[in-house]
Amino acid sequence: GIAVVGSLNHDVRLSVHRLPHSGETITSDALHRSPGGKGANQAAASARLGRAVAMIGAVGDDDAGRDITHRLAREGVGTTGIDVVDDSTGMAVVLWERPESTIIIAPGANAWVTGDRVQAHAEEIRQAGAVLCQLETPLSALGAVADLAAGITLLNPAPSAGVPLDLLRRFDVVVPNRFELAALAGAREAPRSVAEVRAMAESLGHPAVVVTLGADGCLVVQRNQSAAHKSSAAVHVRSVDVRAVDTTGAGDSFCAGLADALLDGVDLADAARWATQVAAATTTRDGALDSLPARAELPSPTHI
Ligand code: ADP
Repeated sequence: GIAVVGSLNHDVRLSVHRLPHSGETITSDALHRSPGGKGANQAAASARLGRAVAMIGAVGDDDAGRDITHRLAREGVGTTGIDVVDDSTGMAVVLWERPESTIIIAPGANAWVTGDRVQAHAEEIRQAGAVLCQLETPLSALGAVADLAAGITLLNPAPSAGVPLDLLRRFDVVVPNRFELAALAGAREAPRSVAEVRAMAESLGHPAVVVTLGADGCLVVQRNQSAAHKSSAAVHVRSVDVRAVDTTGAGDSFCAGLADALLDGVDLADAARWATQVAAATTTRDGALDSLPARAELPSPTHI
C-alpha cells in the first residue's frame, strides 16, 4: 500500500474578478468550501486508484478536522494516522481569479507533523510499498520518513521551498513543477525550455527527478550511475489532450499515479506515462478531491 505523510486543510475558495489592493475590500462572487491539502489530496487520489492508503497527519479538534477525516475515510483512506492536536485544522484561502489562484495557507495543525510525530506512526511507514511526502508539513517529517521507509519514497517538494540537498537525496524520486524545481536549485527564475528544465534537474545531482510541465506533460530525468562516467537520460512524456477546466489537484493526482505505477514495478518513464493519464483526467473536472479519477474511469494502463 501507500502511506502519505502530509497536510490536511479546509479550503475556502473565493472567486474574484481581480485581486484586492492593499487595504482594499472587494466582494467575491462565489464561495466554495471543500476538504483539501496536498497530503489529503494525494491520499484520496491513491485510494481512488485502488490502493490501500494510510494517511499520517494532524487536524484540530474542530468541525473542519472532523470533516476532512470523515471524507478521507469515505474515500477508503486509513485515518488512524491522523492525530488530533491542540490547534486549528489547517486552512487555505484561495483567491480564484480563473484560471489562476493566489493562495494563503494557515498551517495550523499541519505544523505539528514533525519527525517525532511521524516516528509515532512508524509501523504505517515501514509497511508501505511507497511513501508520498510534500512540503506543507515540517521538514523534520521528511527525515523521519527517510529513516523509517522500506519502500519507494517520493517527495513532491510543493509548495515551492528550498530543501537541503542531502535531505532531498534521501528520497528515491523527486516530483517538482518548474517553479518548485527552481526553488530546489536555488535559481531565481523557473526554467522555460525543456532543455533548461533538464539542465536544472541535472544540477540537483539526484538520480530520479520527474518535473511536471502542466499542459506540456512532464520530463523524466534520470542519472545513470553504473557508467564509468556519470551520464543522464531525459524522457519527455507528452500530456494527454483533454479539455482542462480546473487544474487544481493535477499535481497531487500525478504524484499518486506515479506511486501507483511504481508499486507495479514499472520503470520511471512508464510510471510517468500513467501519472500523466491520471493527472489529465483530474483537470477535466472542477475541484480538488472531487475531480480525482477512479481507476475504472481511466484507460487501461499501458505498463501492465
Ligand atoms: P502543478 O499543478 O503542481 O503546478 P502541473 O501544472 O505541472 O502541476 O500539472 C501536473 C500534471 O498535470 C502535468 O504533468 C500534466 O500531466 C497534467 N496536466 C496539467 N495541466 C494539464 C492540461 N492542461 N492538459 C493535460 N494535462 C495537464
